[in-house]
Amino acid sequence: MDNHRDKHFCIPQNDFPKIVVIGAGFAGINFIKKLKDKPVQVILIDQNNYHQFQPLLYQVAISGLEPDSVVSPIRKLFKSCINMIYRMAKVEEIDTKNNCVYTDIGYVNYDYLVIATGSSTNYYGSLNIEKYGIGLKSINDAINIRSWMLQNLELAVEGCNFEEKTALTKFVIVGGGPAGVEMAGALAEFKKYLLSNDYPEIEYESMHIYLIQSADRILPTMSLKASEHALKILKKLDIEVLLNSRVTDYDGDKITILINDEEKIIESKNLIWAAGVKGNILKGIDEKAIVQGNRIKVNQYNQVEGLENVFAIGDIAAMISDANPQGHPMVAQAAIQQGKILAKNMLYKINKGVFKKPFSYVDKGSMATIGKRDAVADLKNFFLNGRIGWLLWSFIHLISITGFKNKFKVAFNWTMKYLSYEKANQLIIRKYIRKS
Ligand SMILES: Cc1cc2nc3c(=O)[nH]c(=O)nc-3n(C[C@H](O)[C@H](O)[C@H](O)COP(=O)(O)OP(=O)(O)OC[C@H]3O[C@@H](n4cnc5c(N)ncnc54)[C@H](O)[C@@H]3O)c2cc1C
Repeated sequence: MDNHRDKHFCIPQNDFPKIVVIGAGFAGINFIKKLKDKPVQVILIDQNNYHQFQPLLYQVAISGLEPDSVVSPIRKLFKSCINMIYRMAKVEEIDTKNNCVYTDIGYVNYDYLVIATGSSTNYYGSLNIEKYGIGLKSINDAINIRSWMLQNLELAVEGCNFEEKTALTKFVIVGGGPAGVEMAGALAEFKKYLLSNDYPEIEYESMHIYLIQSADRILPTMSLKASEHALKILKKLDIEVLLNSRVTDYDGDKITILINDEEKIIESKNLIWAAGVKGNILKGIDEKAIVQGNRIKVNQYNQVEGLENVFAIGDIAAMISDANPQGHPMVAQAAIQQGKILAKNMLYKINKGVFKKPFSYVDKGSMATIGKRDAVADLKNFFLNGRIGWLLWSFIHLISITGFKNKFKVAFNWTMKYLSYEKANQLIIRKYIRKS
Protein backbone atom coordinates (compact mmCIF):
# COMPACT_ATOMS: atom_id res chain seq x y z
CA MET A 1 0.00 0.00 0.00
CA ASP A 2 1.19 3.57 -0.81
CA ASN A 3 2.03 5.84 2.12
CA HIS A 4 -0.85 8.22 1.54
CA ARG A 5 -3.26 5.31 1.79
CA ASP A 6 -2.27 4.71 5.42
CA LYS A 7 -2.89 8.27 6.54
CA HIS A 8 -6.31 9.21 7.90
CA PHE A 9 -7.64 12.69 7.10
CA CYS A 10 -6.85 15.13 9.87
CA ILE A 11 -10.40 16.19 10.80
CA PRO A 12 -12.18 17.01 14.08
CA GLN A 13 -13.81 13.97 15.66
CA ASN A 14 -17.37 14.25 16.95
CA ASP A 15 -20.48 12.11 17.35
CA PHE A 16 -22.41 13.54 14.43
CA PRO A 17 -23.13 11.27 11.48
CA LYS A 18 -20.28 11.70 9.03
CA ILE A 19 -21.31 12.36 5.41
CA VAL A 20 -18.55 12.29 2.80
CA VAL A 21 -19.38 14.07 -0.47
CA ILE A 22 -17.20 13.54 -3.55
CA GLY A 23 -17.53 16.41 -6.02
CA ALA A 24 -18.27 20.13 -5.72
CA GLY A 25 -20.33 20.41 -8.89
CA PHE A 26 -23.95 21.53 -9.06
CA ALA A 27 -25.17 18.38 -7.30
CA GLY A 28 -22.57 18.37 -4.49
CA ILE A 29 -22.81 22.04 -3.55
CA ASN A 30 -26.60 22.09 -3.54
CA PHE A 31 -26.64 18.99 -1.35
CA ILE A 32 -24.25 20.58 1.16
CA LYS A 33 -25.99 23.97 1.25
CA LYS A 34 -29.12 22.25 2.55
CA LEU A 35 -27.12 20.67 5.41
CA LYS A 36 -25.79 23.97 6.77
CA ASP A 37 -26.07 24.06 10.60
CA LYS A 38 -27.68 20.61 10.72
CA PRO A 39 -26.40 18.01 13.22
CA VAL A 40 -24.17 16.21 10.72
CA GLN A 41 -20.48 16.47 9.82
CA VAL A 42 -19.96 16.97 6.09
CA ILE A 43 -16.59 16.27 4.46
CA LEU A 44 -16.37 17.53 0.90
CA ILE A 45 -13.63 16.19 -1.36
CA ASP A 46 -12.88 17.67 -4.77
CA GLN A 47 -9.76 17.48 -6.91
CA ASN A 48 -10.07 21.23 -7.64
CA ASN A 49 -10.43 24.00 -5.08
CA TYR A 50 -13.25 25.57 -7.09
CA HIS A 51 -16.75 24.95 -8.39
CA GLN A 52 -17.15 25.54 -12.12
CA PHE A 53 -20.10 26.99 -13.97
CA GLN A 54 -19.85 24.84 -17.10
CA PRO A 55 -22.61 26.53 -19.16
CA LEU A 56 -20.37 29.58 -19.71
CA LEU A 57 -17.07 27.81 -20.41
CA TYR A 58 -17.37 28.53 -24.12
CA GLN A 59 -17.25 32.27 -23.38
CA VAL A 60 -13.92 31.81 -21.60
CA ALA A 61 -12.71 29.83 -24.62
CA ILE A 62 -13.35 32.75 -26.98
CA SER A 63 -12.01 35.38 -24.51
CA GLY A 64 -15.49 36.78 -23.84
CA LEU A 65 -15.11 36.16 -20.11
CA GLU A 66 -12.10 35.69 -17.88
CA PRO A 67 -11.73 32.32 -16.09
CA ASP A 68 -12.37 33.74 -12.62
CA SER A 69 -15.87 34.86 -13.68
CA VAL A 70 -17.10 31.29 -14.08
CA VAL A 71 -15.45 29.52 -11.16
CA SER A 72 -15.98 30.00 -7.42
CA PRO A 73 -13.51 28.98 -4.71
CA ILE A 74 -15.04 26.20 -2.59
CA ARG A 75 -13.74 27.62 0.69
CA LYS A 76 -15.45 30.96 -0.02
CA LEU A 77 -18.70 29.28 -1.06
CA PHE A 78 -18.95 27.48 2.29
CA LYS A 79 -17.31 30.11 4.50
CA SER A 80 -20.26 30.18 6.90
CA CYS A 81 -20.95 26.46 6.81
CA ILE A 82 -19.13 25.42 9.98
CA ASN A 83 -20.20 21.78 9.90
CA MET A 84 -18.49 21.34 6.49
CA ILE A 85 -14.84 20.41 6.03
CA TYR A 86 -13.21 20.63 2.62
CA ARG A 87 -10.19 18.69 1.39
CA MET A 88 -8.61 19.17 -2.02
CA ALA A 89 -7.90 15.61 -3.12
CA LYS A 90 -8.51 13.20 -5.93
CA VAL A 91 -10.51 10.17 -4.91
CA GLU A 92 -8.73 7.02 -6.07
CA GLU A 93 -11.01 4.33 -4.75
CA ILE A 94 -13.97 3.67 -2.51
CA ASP A 95 -14.40 0.66 -0.25
CA THR A 96 -18.10 0.24 0.37
CA LYS A 97 -17.61 -2.81 2.62
CA ASN A 98 -15.48 -0.86 5.10
CA ASN A 99 -17.11 2.55 4.51
CA CYS A 100 -13.87 4.15 3.41
CA VAL A 101 -12.78 6.61 0.71
CA TYR A 102 -9.16 6.55 -0.45
CA THR A 103 -7.66 9.69 -1.96
CA ASP A 104 -4.23 10.86 -3.11
CA ILE A 105 -3.69 12.58 0.26
CA GLY A 106 -5.12 10.00 2.63
CA TYR A 107 -8.30 8.14 3.53
CA VAL A 108 -11.47 8.98 5.38
CA ASN A 109 -14.29 6.85 6.79
CA TYR A 110 -17.95 7.69 6.39
CA ASP A 111 -21.37 6.83 7.72
CA TYR A 112 -22.96 8.04 4.48
CA LEU A 113 -21.27 8.53 1.11
CA VAL A 114 -22.54 10.81 -1.64
CA ILE A 115 -20.96 10.37 -5.08
CA ALA A 116 -21.34 13.55 -7.13
CA THR A 117 -18.37 13.15 -9.47
CA GLY A 118 -20.18 14.38 -12.59
CA SER A 119 -18.98 13.48 -16.06
CA SER A 120 -16.09 14.01 -18.43
CA THR A 121 -15.61 14.22 -22.19
CA ASN A 122 -16.46 11.03 -24.05
CA TYR A 123 -14.20 10.47 -27.06
CA TYR A 124 -15.91 7.12 -27.69
CA GLY A 125 -12.60 5.28 -27.65
CA SER A 126 -10.79 7.38 -30.26
CA LEU A 127 -7.32 7.92 -28.80
CA ASN A 128 -6.29 10.15 -31.72
CA ILE A 129 -9.19 12.55 -31.28
CA GLU A 130 -8.51 12.65 -27.53
CA LYS A 131 -4.83 13.36 -28.20
CA TYR A 132 -5.13 16.04 -30.86
CA GLY A 133 -8.55 17.54 -30.25
CA ILE A 134 -9.62 19.62 -27.24
CA GLY A 135 -12.71 18.91 -25.14
CA LEU A 136 -14.98 21.54 -23.60
CA LYS A 137 -15.71 20.24 -20.12
CA SER A 138 -13.60 22.16 -17.63
CA ILE A 139 -12.05 25.56 -17.08
CA ASN A 140 -8.75 23.98 -18.08
CA ASP A 141 -10.24 22.90 -21.41
CA ALA A 142 -11.65 26.41 -21.99
CA ILE A 143 -8.25 28.00 -21.35
CA ASN A 144 -6.61 25.41 -23.61
CA ILE A 145 -9.03 26.16 -26.46
CA ARG A 146 -8.42 29.90 -26.05
CA SER A 147 -4.64 29.53 -26.01
CA TRP A 148 -4.57 27.08 -28.92
CA MET A 149 -6.84 29.26 -31.04
CA LEU A 150 -4.86 32.45 -30.36
CA GLN A 151 -1.50 30.69 -30.78
CA ASN A 152 -2.67 29.39 -34.17
CA LEU A 153 -3.89 32.82 -35.26
CA GLU A 154 -0.51 34.28 -34.26
CA LEU A 155 1.20 31.57 -36.34
CA ALA A 156 -1.09 32.29 -39.26
CA VAL A 157 -0.06 35.94 -39.51
CA GLU A 158 3.57 35.15 -40.10
CA GLY A 159 5.77 32.75 -41.93
CA CYS A 160 3.52 30.13 -43.45
CA ASN A 161 2.23 29.23 -46.86
CA PHE A 162 -1.40 29.39 -48.00
CA GLU A 163 -2.23 25.76 -47.07
CA GLU A 164 -0.77 26.11 -43.59
CA LYS A 165 -2.55 29.39 -43.04
CA THR A 166 -5.87 27.88 -44.07
CA ALA A 167 -5.40 24.92 -41.70
CA LEU A 168 -4.50 27.26 -38.83
CA THR A 169 -7.58 29.43 -39.31
CA LYS A 170 -10.08 26.62 -39.89
CA PHE A 171 -12.13 25.63 -36.83
CA VAL A 172 -14.04 22.40 -36.57
CA ILE A 173 -16.50 21.93 -33.73
CA VAL A 174 -17.84 18.42 -33.26
CA GLY A 175 -21.23 17.96 -31.60
CA GLY A 176 -24.45 19.78 -32.42
CA GLY A 177 -25.88 19.84 -28.88
CA PRO A 178 -26.14 23.10 -26.90
CA ALA A 179 -22.40 23.21 -26.04
CA GLY A 180 -21.32 22.79 -29.69
CA VAL A 181 -23.90 25.22 -31.04
CA GLU A 182 -22.97 27.87 -28.46
CA MET A 183 -19.26 27.41 -29.14
CA ALA A 184 -19.77 27.68 -32.92
CA GLY A 185 -21.92 30.81 -32.58
CA ALA A 186 -19.39 32.46 -30.29
CA LEU A 187 -16.51 31.68 -32.67
CA ALA A 188 -18.49 33.19 -35.53
CA GLU A 189 -18.99 36.38 -33.49
CA PHE A 190 -15.26 36.42 -32.78
CA LYS A 191 -14.63 36.25 -36.51
CA LYS A 192 -17.17 38.96 -37.25
CA TYR A 193 -16.18 41.49 -34.61
CA LEU A 194 -12.60 40.79 -33.63
CA LEU A 195 -10.67 39.10 -36.39
CA SER A 196 -10.10 42.07 -38.68
CA ASN A 197 -9.47 44.44 -35.76
CA ASP A 198 -6.96 42.32 -33.92
CA TYR A 199 -5.50 40.29 -36.76
CA PRO A 200 -5.58 42.61 -39.78
CA GLU A 201 -3.10 40.32 -41.56
CA ILE A 202 -5.67 37.49 -41.70
CA GLU A 203 -8.33 37.83 -44.42
CA TYR A 204 -11.87 37.57 -43.08
CA GLU A 205 -12.82 34.77 -45.49
CA SER A 206 -9.91 32.57 -44.50
CA MET A 207 -11.35 31.84 -41.04
CA HIS A 208 -13.77 29.04 -41.71
CA ILE A 209 -15.99 27.42 -39.07
CA TYR A 210 -17.58 23.97 -39.34
CA LEU A 211 -20.10 22.38 -37.01
CA ILE A 212 -20.28 18.60 -37.38
CA GLN A 213 -23.37 16.80 -36.13
CA SER A 214 -24.05 13.06 -36.30
CA ALA A 215 -27.85 13.38 -36.11
CA ASP A 216 -30.07 14.82 -38.82
CA ARG A 217 -30.60 18.04 -36.90
CA ILE A 218 -28.73 20.22 -34.42
CA LEU A 219 -30.05 20.56 -30.84
CA PRO A 220 -31.74 17.13 -31.13
CA THR A 221 -32.94 17.19 -27.51
CA MET A 222 -34.87 20.41 -28.15
CA SER A 223 -37.97 21.09 -30.25
CA LEU A 224 -37.89 21.03 -34.04
CA LYS A 225 -38.59 24.77 -34.01
CA ALA A 226 -35.49 25.34 -31.88
CA SER A 227 -33.33 23.22 -34.21
CA GLU A 228 -34.58 24.98 -37.33
CA HIS A 229 -34.12 28.46 -35.90
CA ALA A 230 -30.63 27.65 -34.60
CA LEU A 231 -29.61 26.21 -37.97
CA LYS A 232 -30.87 29.31 -39.78
CA ILE A 233 -28.89 31.63 -37.48
CA LEU A 234 -25.71 29.54 -37.66
CA LYS A 235 -25.87 29.63 -41.46
CA LYS A 236 -26.38 33.39 -41.34
CA LEU A 237 -23.25 33.57 -39.20
CA ASP A 238 -21.40 31.82 -42.02
CA ILE A 239 -20.96 28.50 -40.24
CA GLU A 240 -20.90 25.39 -42.38
CA VAL A 241 -23.12 22.84 -40.64
CA LEU A 242 -22.63 19.20 -41.67
CA LEU A 243 -25.52 16.97 -40.56
CA ASN A 244 -25.54 13.15 -40.55
CA SER A 245 -21.75 13.42 -40.28
CA ARG A 246 -19.36 11.67 -37.93
CA VAL A 247 -15.74 12.51 -37.22
CA THR A 248 -13.92 9.19 -37.17
CA ASP A 249 -10.26 10.18 -36.92
CA TYR A 250 -7.86 13.11 -36.54
CA ASP A 251 -4.09 13.09 -36.85
CA GLY A 252 -3.60 16.70 -35.75
CA ASP A 253 -3.74 17.97 -39.35
CA LYS A 254 -6.45 16.03 -41.14
CA ILE A 255 -9.92 15.35 -39.83
CA THR A 256 -11.67 12.32 -41.29
CA ILE A 257 -15.43 12.69 -41.51
CA LEU A 258 -18.06 10.23 -42.68
CA ILE A 259 -20.96 12.08 -44.28
CA ASN A 260 -23.77 9.66 -45.04
CA ASP A 261 -21.04 6.99 -45.27
CA GLU A 262 -18.95 9.02 -47.70
CA GLU A 263 -15.48 10.00 -46.50
CA LYS A 264 -14.42 13.66 -46.44
CA ILE A 265 -11.14 15.13 -45.18
CA ILE A 266 -10.90 18.60 -43.66
CA GLU A 267 -7.43 19.98 -43.04
CA SER A 268 -7.47 21.87 -39.78
CA LYS A 269 -5.30 22.43 -36.73
CA ASN A 270 -8.31 23.21 -34.54
CA LEU A 271 -10.71 20.49 -33.48
CA ILE A 272 -13.04 21.21 -30.55
CA TRP A 273 -14.84 18.12 -29.28
CA ALA A 274 -18.26 18.73 -27.72
CA ALA A 275 -19.84 15.47 -28.82
CA GLY A 276 -20.65 13.70 -25.59
CA VAL A 277 -19.88 12.95 -21.96
CA LYS A 278 -19.59 9.86 -19.77
CA GLY A 279 -19.87 9.47 -16.01
CA ASN A 280 -16.75 9.68 -13.82
CA ILE A 281 -16.87 6.24 -12.28
CA LEU A 282 -14.73 5.59 -9.20
CA LYS A 283 -12.77 2.42 -8.63
CA GLY A 284 -14.63 0.25 -6.11
CA ILE A 285 -18.11 0.71 -7.54
CA ASP A 286 -19.68 -2.65 -8.27
CA GLU A 287 -19.79 -3.23 -12.03
CA LYS A 288 -23.37 -4.43 -11.74
CA ALA A 289 -24.37 -0.92 -10.68
CA ILE A 290 -22.80 0.72 -13.76
CA VAL A 291 -25.14 1.31 -16.69
CA GLN A 292 -24.93 2.88 -20.15
CA GLY A 293 -22.91 6.10 -20.32
CA ASN A 294 -20.77 5.07 -17.33
CA ARG A 295 -23.46 6.13 -14.89
CA ILE A 296 -24.40 4.56 -11.56
CA LYS A 297 -27.82 3.02 -11.25
CA VAL A 298 -29.76 4.56 -8.36
CA ASN A 299 -33.27 4.15 -6.99
CA GLN A 300 -35.76 6.99 -6.59
CA TYR A 301 -33.99 8.11 -3.40
CA ASN A 302 -30.63 8.29 -5.20
CA GLN A 303 -29.44 5.23 -3.30
CA VAL A 304 -26.88 3.19 -5.24
CA GLU A 305 -28.23 -0.23 -6.11
CA GLY A 306 -27.46 -2.74 -3.38
CA LEU A 307 -25.91 -0.23 -0.95
CA GLU A 308 -27.80 1.15 2.04
CA ASN A 309 -25.55 4.14 2.83
CA VAL A 310 -24.10 5.10 -0.58
CA PHE A 311 -25.85 7.62 -2.85
CA ALA A 312 -25.17 9.12 -6.27
CA ILE A 313 -26.49 12.45 -7.58
CA GLY A 314 -26.13 14.61 -10.69
CA ASP A 315 -24.65 13.53 -14.02
CA ILE A 316 -23.17 10.35 -12.54
CA ALA A 317 -26.56 9.08 -11.35
CA ALA A 318 -28.89 7.11 -13.63
CA MET A 319 -32.36 6.99 -12.11
CA ILE A 320 -33.89 4.54 -14.53
CA SER A 321 -37.61 3.87 -14.62
CA ASP A 322 -40.21 2.79 -17.19
CA ALA A 323 -41.02 6.43 -17.83
CA ASN A 324 -37.32 7.29 -17.99
CA PRO A 325 -35.37 4.39 -19.52
CA GLN A 326 -32.22 6.50 -20.04
CA GLY A 327 -32.30 8.19 -16.63
CA HIS A 328 -32.66 11.96 -16.22
CA PRO A 329 -30.81 14.26 -18.64
CA MET A 330 -27.25 15.19 -17.70
CA VAL A 331 -28.04 18.86 -17.05
CA ALA A 332 -27.52 21.30 -14.19
CA GLN A 333 -31.20 21.40 -13.14
CA ALA A 334 -31.37 17.63 -12.59
CA ALA A 335 -28.13 17.80 -10.54
CA ILE A 336 -29.36 20.74 -8.42
CA GLN A 337 -32.76 19.18 -7.76
CA GLN A 338 -31.24 15.80 -6.82
CA GLY A 339 -28.74 17.47 -4.46
CA LYS A 340 -31.49 19.34 -2.63
CA ILE A 341 -33.91 16.45 -2.26
CA LEU A 342 -31.22 14.01 -1.15
CA ALA A 343 -30.20 16.38 1.68
CA LYS A 344 -33.80 16.42 2.92
CA ASN A 345 -34.18 12.67 2.54
CA MET A 346 -30.91 11.93 4.31
CA LEU A 347 -31.73 14.13 7.31
CA TYR A 348 -35.15 12.50 7.54
CA LYS A 349 -33.64 9.05 7.35
CA ILE A 350 -31.08 9.87 10.05
CA ASN A 351 -33.82 11.19 12.37
CA LYS A 352 -36.80 8.99 11.54
CA GLY A 353 -35.33 5.94 9.85
CA VAL A 354 -37.17 6.43 6.54
CA PHE A 355 -36.81 8.63 3.46
CA LYS A 356 -39.15 11.60 3.13
CA LYS A 357 -40.08 11.58 -0.55
CA PRO A 358 -38.91 10.10 -3.85
CA PHE A 359 -37.18 12.29 -6.42
CA SER A 360 -39.29 13.68 -9.20
CA TYR A 361 -37.60 15.76 -11.88
CA VAL A 362 -39.18 19.12 -12.72
CA ASP A 363 -38.15 19.97 -16.26
CA LYS A 364 -37.96 23.76 -16.41
CA GLY A 365 -37.16 23.76 -20.12
CA SER A 366 -33.98 24.05 -22.13
CA MET A 367 -32.13 26.84 -23.87
CA ALA A 368 -29.18 27.53 -26.12
CA THR A 369 -27.74 30.82 -27.24
CA ILE A 370 -26.52 31.35 -30.79
CA GLY A 371 -24.09 34.20 -31.20
CA LYS A 372 -24.31 37.60 -29.62
CA ARG A 373 -28.01 38.39 -29.85
CA ASP A 374 -30.01 35.24 -30.44
CA ALA A 375 -31.12 32.20 -28.47
CA VAL A 376 -33.72 29.45 -28.51
CA ALA A 377 -35.73 28.52 -25.42
CA ASP A 378 -38.15 25.59 -25.11
CA LEU A 379 -40.24 26.41 -22.08
CA LYS A 380 -43.12 24.46 -20.59
CA ASN A 381 -45.89 25.97 -22.68
CA PHE A 382 -44.13 28.10 -25.23
CA PHE A 383 -41.09 28.64 -27.41
CA LEU A 384 -38.96 31.77 -27.55
CA ASN A 385 -36.22 32.83 -29.92
CA GLY A 386 -34.42 35.91 -31.22
CA ARG A 387 -33.64 38.87 -28.96
CA ILE A 388 -36.27 37.94 -26.33
CA GLY A 389 -34.92 34.39 -26.14
CA TRP A 390 -31.43 35.80 -25.73
CA LEU A 391 -32.52 38.19 -22.94
CA LEU A 392 -34.17 35.31 -21.08
CA TRP A 393 -31.08 33.11 -21.59
CA SER A 394 -28.85 35.92 -20.23
CA PHE A 395 -31.08 36.51 -17.21
CA ILE A 396 -31.32 32.81 -16.28
CA HIS A 397 -27.57 32.31 -16.58
CA LEU A 398 -26.79 35.45 -14.64
CA ILE A 399 -28.94 34.47 -11.66
CA SER A 400 -27.52 30.94 -11.73
CA ILE A 401 -23.82 31.86 -11.50
CA THR A 402 -22.52 31.37 -7.97
CA GLY A 403 -21.35 34.43 -6.04
CA PHE A 404 -22.31 38.10 -6.24
CA LYS A 405 -18.86 39.12 -7.53
CA ASN A 406 -19.11 36.68 -10.44
CA LYS A 407 -22.62 37.85 -11.29
CA PHE A 408 -21.35 41.43 -11.37
CA LYS A 409 -18.28 40.59 -13.48
CA VAL A 410 -20.33 38.62 -16.01
CA ALA A 411 -23.07 41.30 -16.22
CA PHE A 412 -20.44 44.00 -16.74
CA ASN A 413 -18.65 41.99 -19.43
CA TRP A 414 -21.85 41.17 -21.26
CA THR A 415 -22.96 44.80 -21.25
CA MET A 416 -19.61 45.94 -22.62
CA LYS A 417 -19.62 43.17 -25.19
CA TYR A 418 -23.16 43.98 -26.22
CA LEU A 419 -22.25 47.62 -26.75
CA SER A 420 -18.89 46.91 -28.36
CA TYR A 421 -17.30 43.53 -28.91
CA GLU A 422 -13.87 45.14 -29.11
CA LYS A 423 -13.60 45.19 -25.31
CA ALA A 424 -12.70 41.49 -25.14
CA ASN A 425 -9.07 40.80 -24.23
CA GLN A 426 -7.45 38.02 -26.19
CA LEU A 427 -4.94 36.93 -23.56
CA ILE A 428 -2.94 33.73 -23.79
CA ILE A 429 -2.79 33.05 -20.05
CA ARG A 430 -0.56 30.07 -20.52
CA LYS A 431 0.59 28.37 -23.68
CA TYR A 432 -1.12 25.19 -24.77
CA ILE A 433 1.28 22.49 -25.87
CA ARG A 434 -0.47 19.82 -27.87
CA LYS A 435 0.49 16.23 -27.15
CA SER A 436 2.76 14.82 -29.85
C1 LIG B 1 -19.77 23.09 -22.00
C2 LIG B 1 -20.96 22.68 -21.18
C3 LIG B 1 -22.11 23.45 -21.23
C4 LIG B 1 -23.23 23.10 -20.47
N1 LIG B 1 -24.34 23.88 -20.54
C5 LIG B 1 -25.40 23.57 -19.78
C6 LIG B 1 -26.56 24.41 -19.78
O1 LIG B 1 -26.61 25.43 -20.47
N2 LIG B 1 -27.60 24.04 -18.99
C7 LIG B 1 -27.56 22.92 -18.20
O2 LIG B 1 -28.52 22.64 -17.49
N3 LIG B 1 -26.50 22.11 -18.19
C8 LIG B 1 -25.41 22.41 -18.94
N4 LIG B 1 -24.32 21.59 -18.93
C9 LIG B 1 -24.35 20.36 -18.11
C10 LIG B 1 -24.08 20.66 -16.64
O3 LIG B 1 -22.94 21.48 -16.51
C11 LIG B 1 -23.90 19.35 -15.88
O4 LIG B 1 -25.08 18.60 -16.03
C12 LIG B 1 -23.62 19.60 -14.41
O5 LIG B 1 -22.40 20.26 -14.25
C13 LIG B 1 -23.62 18.29 -13.63
O6 LIG B 1 -23.35 18.58 -12.30
P1 LIG B 1 -22.64 17.51 -11.36
O7 LIG B 1 -22.60 18.10 -9.99
O8 LIG B 1 -23.27 16.18 -11.52
O9 LIG B 1 -21.16 17.36 -11.94
P2 LIG B 1 -20.01 18.43 -12.20
O10 LIG B 1 -20.56 19.79 -12.23
O11 LIG B 1 -19.27 17.95 -13.38
O12 LIG B 1 -19.08 18.30 -10.91
C14 LIG B 1 -18.36 17.13 -10.61
C15 LIG B 1 -17.27 17.47 -9.61
O13 LIG B 1 -16.67 16.26 -9.17
C16 LIG B 1 -15.27 16.44 -9.08
N5 LIG B 1 -14.63 15.13 -9.24
C17 LIG B 1 -14.81 14.24 -10.25
N6 LIG B 1 -14.07 13.13 -10.05
C18 LIG B 1 -13.40 13.32 -8.88
C19 LIG B 1 -12.46 12.54 -8.13
N7 LIG B 1 -12.09 11.31 -8.52
N8 LIG B 1 -11.96 13.06 -6.99
C20 LIG B 1 -12.32 14.30 -6.57
N9 LIG B 1 -13.20 15.08 -7.23
C21 LIG B 1 -13.74 14.60 -8.36
C22 LIG B 1 -14.95 17.41 -10.22
O14 LIG B 1 -13.73 18.10 -9.99
C23 LIG B 1 -16.17 18.34 -10.19
O15 LIG B 1 -15.95 19.45 -9.36
C24 LIG B 1 -23.19 21.93 -19.66
C25 LIG B 1 -22.03 21.16 -19.62
C26 LIG B 1 -20.93 21.54 -20.37
C27 LIG B 1 -19.68 20.71 -20.30
